[in-house]
Amino acid sequence: MNRTVAFVGLGHMGGPMAANLARAGHRVLGHDLAPEAVEAAGRAGAEPAGSVTAAVREADVVISMLPAGRHVLDLYDEALTAARPGTLFVDCSTVDVADARTAHERARTAGMRSLDAPVSGGVVGAEAATLTFMAGGGEEEFTEARPLLEAMGRRAVHCGGPGAGQAAKICNNMILGVSMIAVSEAFVLGESLGLSHQALYDVASTASGQCWALSVNCPVPGPVPSSPANRDYRPGFAAALMAKDLRLAAGAAKAGGVHTELGTRAAELYAEYAEGAGGERDFSAIVGTIRERSGEVT
Ligand code: NAD
Repeated sequence: MNRTVAFVGLGHMGGPMAANLARAGHRVLGHDLAPEAVEAAGRAGAEPAGSVTAAVREADVVISMLPAGRHVLDLYDEALTAARPGTLFVDCSTVDVADARTAHERARTAGMRSLDAPVSGGVVGAEAATLTFMAGGGEEEFTEARPLLEAMGRRAVHCGGPGAGQAAKICNNMILGVSMIAVSEAFVLGESLGLSHQALYDVASTASGQCWALSVNCPVPGPVPSSPANRDYRPGFAAALMAKDLRLAAGAAKAGGVHTELGTRAAELYAEYAEGAGGERDFSAIVGTIRERSGEVT
């Protein structure tokens, strides 16, 4: 069934996601604060909408893909009064679990339905429609959103009630951030012991050290030709975004009194790295910092 979808936030992720919805035959009304993003979405099959109200007033579903929780809550304040009662709001941005729950609550109070549905897969996944969606909210809302999510991605997992999608996202990325640092430390330790990158890779990738950070996104050039390390660490998944997700995870852990020692340290290391020149590089480039701190030349 083709739907009328308001899509707000047409940046690196939202632009191609909106284009994939239009390609699948849905009517997409695209809005962004940046006029050039709206124009690009227009060229990719969306109808340009000059305001939030113009985008949402005829929509069956409102999808947002914004930088952070405060942008989502600001959008909801405006959009919830302009949309038709019962409209389904699907926020795909990565935001704080508490902000996601607030957004759900505001939607419910305004007579709307809602899901949080953050993604993993990055810009490449957004362009190729191979994203994974992690959804939080009601079963009925998930079932209704599913065909739209599947037009933008390969997999949609219903993780539980309001905020459960964001919870899954930050827990997953905490594993990823910690494991990338662990893999990077192992390569630098191996270098100092005279072990070649290939030898360590050949052992660890088929032994108990195996993980995505090693076998797909390997932080040193050579063993995995498609990893960002082979193209001067062009992302991929930018270190600034990893720093953001780890900050959200560390904040949630602190709020809940959960002792995530490695997750919290990974958040600190990525924050330092992303503040410097590294923010735009793939997050695997943190191996260079470990090497520098170990007194070796990068
Ligand atoms: P981006 O900065 O490229 O895009 C955000 C867009 O939102 C911009 O075009 C901006 O103009 C627009 N915007 C901001 N405030 C607005 C408002 N009030 N109304 C309308 N438009 C507004 O960011 P992105 O890389 O597309 O990321 C979007 C979200 O996806 C973030 O929450 C990010 O954490 C998450 N995410 C990104 C990636 C990635 O690889 N880029 C991967 C997974 C998740």
